[in-house]
Amino acid sequence: MNIHEYQAKELFDRFDVPSPRGKMAETAEEAKAAAEEIAADLLVVKAQVHAGGRGKGTFKNGFEGGVHLVKSADEIGEIAGKMIGQTLVTKQTGEEGRLVRKVMVADAVEIEHEYYLALLMDRETSRPVIVASTEGGMDIEEVAENSPEKILRQLIHPLAGLQGYEIRTLTAGLGFKGAAAKQFGKLLKNLYKLFITLDCDMVEINPLVETKDGQVLALDAKFGFDDNALYRHPEVEAYRDTEEEDPREVAAAEFDLNYIGLDGNIACLVNGAGLAMATMDAIKFAGGDPANFLDVGGGATKEQVKGAFNIIQSDPKVEAILINIFGGIMDCNVIAEGVVAAVQETGLKLPLVVRLEGNNVAAGRETLNASGLAITGADDLADAAKKAVASV
Ligand code: GDP
Ligand code: MG
Repeated sequence: MNIHEYQAKELFDRFDVPSPRGKMAETAEEAKAAAEEIAADLLVVKAQVHAGGRGKGTFKNGFEGGVHLVKSADEIGEIAGKMIGQTLVTKQTGEEGRLVRKVMVADAVEIEHEYYLALLMDRETSRPVIVASTEGGMDIEEVAENSPEKILRQLIHPLAGLQGYEIRTLTAGLGFKGAAAKQFGKLLKNLYKLFITLDCDMVEINPLVETKDGQVLALDAKFGFDDNALYRHPEVEAYRDTEEEDPREVAAAEFDLNYIGLDGNIACLVNGAGLAMATMDAIKFAGGDPANFLDVGGGATKEQVKGAFNIIQSDPKVEAILINIFGGIMDCNVIAEGVVAAVQETGLKLPLVVRLEGNNVAAGRETLNASGLAITGADDLADAAKKAVASV
């Protein structure tokens, strides 16, 4: 799960990670009032969407930039008015862009230097890793590509936690000196505490800045949380903004389905994550593109299968459906009944290829046959993928 920058700021405050004073606003008037309250000589107004690259983004109405520095509250109101209700396209949003519903107004600090700082989970070592660079503000991927020596990585032992010498290595590596070095060390310690306490899987601050008056501040924030641990943090879960999420995934979450939306046109409904991955591979191998990953799990109910089928059918990108069930624990007939129940409500609008094997398969096939649906049967996974690709 991701959150907005203004929400990240609340978490920063809670864990004593310094960032500029700021306030969220949903209208131009609120933005102006927020600017008056902050009462700084220089202010910044930032579009709030779950995507980076806002500074260099462009609105569909032609307005340039999702981050603006201005001198007066009136200007803040004016620019907020141009952003709210408009669609911002950045290199992270895809060409459809994101509707801006909120902005954040903050005290714009004077920047001496921009750094990059992130905490993530390193999958190779299964440890938290701190990634830092003196080349912040811009594209970190570009820095990694062109000057990898400028990226510092520090693995942290999860039981020992962040050690003093690790903080000092990073502080020196980034070239912080004197009071700034002390501030950076404290910020890093508090940020690590936040990361572990709230079960984050990513915290990215780009840029982390040293200001002209010597403060070290987090100027931007991107957070990712481990969904499996969210039950431990209801206050974080309350930050969820479903309007920023894929509507297909929001619907799938209601039915407790393992669903990830993709860009292709062949929808899959599969039991088991491994089989679901294999099914996507088989579709690719047959020359097609999957519209989603969907694992209905080993113990799915008829209601869940029905919900899954409805999500697939309401996706405008989908042109064919492939059901691939290898019933171990899963009863093939439960799948069949769920599909028939869904189709009875909405009708079957697309070609449907079904491969059923295993537990109670005879009853499952019988349910599908008796329904009179136009189903293409398949002998095995490769055959099913070929038939689904041929049908679009
Ligand atoms: P992003 O483009 O979505 O990553 O948004 P950021 O919050 O990182 O803002 C983009 C850029 O705007 C930053 O890299 C800074 O250079 C600049 N910026 C953001 N906030 C401030 C600020 O308070 N003062 C100054 N001088 N520049 C800022
Ligand atoms: Mg940034």
